[in-house]
Amino acid sequence: MSQILVSKQKRNEMLLFQDLYFIHKTVSVKSSVTEAVCNVCKKGLEDGLSVTALPIENKIRLYCNNHFPK
Ligand SMILES: [Zn+2]
Repeated sequence: MSQILVSKQKRNEMLLFQDLYFIHKTVSVKSSVTEAVCNVCKKGLEDGLSVTALPIENKIRLYCNNHFPK
């Protein structure tokens, strides 16, 4: 049991709150996570390829070892 005793200054009263339940809003996490796959062949780590990120024009492009630009 939780209790809070609060004294009111003006009217010389005491307030007792008990059995307090604090309601917390649950925060849902939104994520845009996707599997890292090659932008060209759409294959990834599951296919035994290595995937490398390359920033091109402020966007991250992913390329496998076969399609990585030279
Ligand atoms: Zn590829």
